[in-house]
Amino acid sequence: RPFYDHRGGFGAANSGGKIPLGLKRKGLRIVVTGGAGFVGSHLVDRLMGRGDSVIVVDNFFTGRKENVMHHFGNPKFELIRHDVVEPLLLEVDQIYHLACPASPVHYKFNPVKTIISFFSDSIPFWTNVVGTLNMLGLAKRVGARFLLTSTSEVYGDPLQHPQVETYWGNVNPIGESDSRFFIPFLLVLRYRKMTTGLPPLLVFLTSGGVRSCYDEGKRTAETLTMDYHRGAGVEVRIARIFNTYGPRMCIDDGRVVSNFVAQALRKEPMTVYGDGKQTRSFQYVSDLVEGLIRLMEGEHVGPFNLGNPGEFTMLELAQVVQETIDPNAKIEFRPNTEDDPHKRKPDISKAKDLLGWEPKVALRKGLPLMVSDFQQRIFGDHEEGSA
Ligand code: NAD
Ligand code: UDP
Ligand code: UDP
Repeated sequence: RPFYDHRGGFGAANSGGKIPLGLKRKGLRIVVTGGAGFVGSHLVDRLMGRGDSVIVVDNFFTGRKENVMHHFGNPKFELIRHDVVEPLLLEVDQIYHLACPASPVHYKFNPVKTIISFFSDSIPFWTNVVGTLNMLGLAKRVGARFLLTSTSEVYGDPLQHPQVETYWGNVNPIGESDSRFFIPFLLVLRYRKMTTGLPPLLVFLTSGGVRSCYDEGKRTAETLTMDYHRGAGVEVRIARIFNTYGPRMCIDDGRVVSNFVAQALRKEPMTVYGDGKQTRSFQYVSDLVEGLIRLMEGEHVGPFNLGNPGEFTMLELAQVVQETIDPNAKIEFRPNTEDDPHKRKPDISKAKDLLGWEPKVALRKGLPLMVSDFQQRIFGDHEEGSA
């Protein structure tokens, strides 16, 4: 169903995001859901930089206007405040679907919505399922190519190391909330009691897991994506993203890199959960953006692991933060949860072979770039922390 495109010709839409032969490339029309967030805004910078027209769709749940404000006034840039759980009509060539409340700690900023969602479903699950369905419906209608940003969390607490894309994972579907999420929940319950006088929803604290609704939500999103690919012929791409850090990351979202960096800058002890021997691999955001674009432009559906294979224990990470920010930064041990994956490291052979991609920025190179951004956001222009 070709449609007349605003550039004065039949657009690349309806061709699976590819520019048809004979049509001179004038830039694609690309929607980035979650484009005001950490990863999304860096992706938007790259797409704008190469001359594409970009529509950011974001409900600002965790994203910030500040992340994309530098594009305001550019006629090729549009920002729509919209929740992807609601249907959306647009004419585009490609859809990068990033929208997702990636960090449940942020629920504390929107207790009302959290309470409402408690009556039906959890926000991450709802967004991942209904939001992804809507964006797939949009891709199907206009013939756009669709890229899902899934997560390494689909591997759960993996029994295979490093994780290869063919591994099916080890997720606990009824995993309990961990301590990081417990405090916001108590605030929510208190708020609910204050405003409605209704009894607390304690049943949710014991029966429903926050981590599992994120993991299972993404797993379902992958399933939907493949269903639309096989059933409706939608051109799809799936990226499984491993822990990523960099400038514009939310400061207080509870993730380990942002926690350690903010804590060290504020001269607070770095909170290491458990014995700190669990491992993760940390990818700098520019490497991820390069991988996402190569995946979208390439010919392979995936899933592809996109992550940095360099593996660090949390204690080693704390040490790198000490080296970068403050050699005297202290470490404080906190209890960990049962469901916390013990180790995680991507096997990126598939992305290397088929996308010609591999990360370039090592942790010790990338961390200082994030530290200066955090410094500015935490202290303004005054350099109270030492770098
Ligand atoms: P982020 O929280 O900074 O960005 C997510 C964005 O989505 C935010 O701007 C938020 O406001 C928006 N959003 C949330 N719910 C929405 C909704 N219902 N409708 C519209 N917009 C909505 O997180 P991020 O780190 O940039 O993550 C981007 C994507 O990458 C997410 O899908 C996340 O699951 C995935 N991912 C990230 C990492 C990582 O380490 N950063 C790891 C694995 C997967
Ligand atoms: N959808 C949307 N934008 C579109 C097309 C569809 O948001 O341009 C939504 C639509 O509202 C539906 C979902 O995507 O909830 C799935 O659409 P599809 O056409 O696949 O399913 P159907 O509407 O036939 O159930
Ligand atoms: N972690 C930690 N201190 C913190 C926050 C997290 O030791 O202040 C640990 C956490 O237990 C996990 C690892 O760091 O083992 C990575 O946590 P994060 O939430 O950043 O990512 P994910 O668990 O989703 O990989």
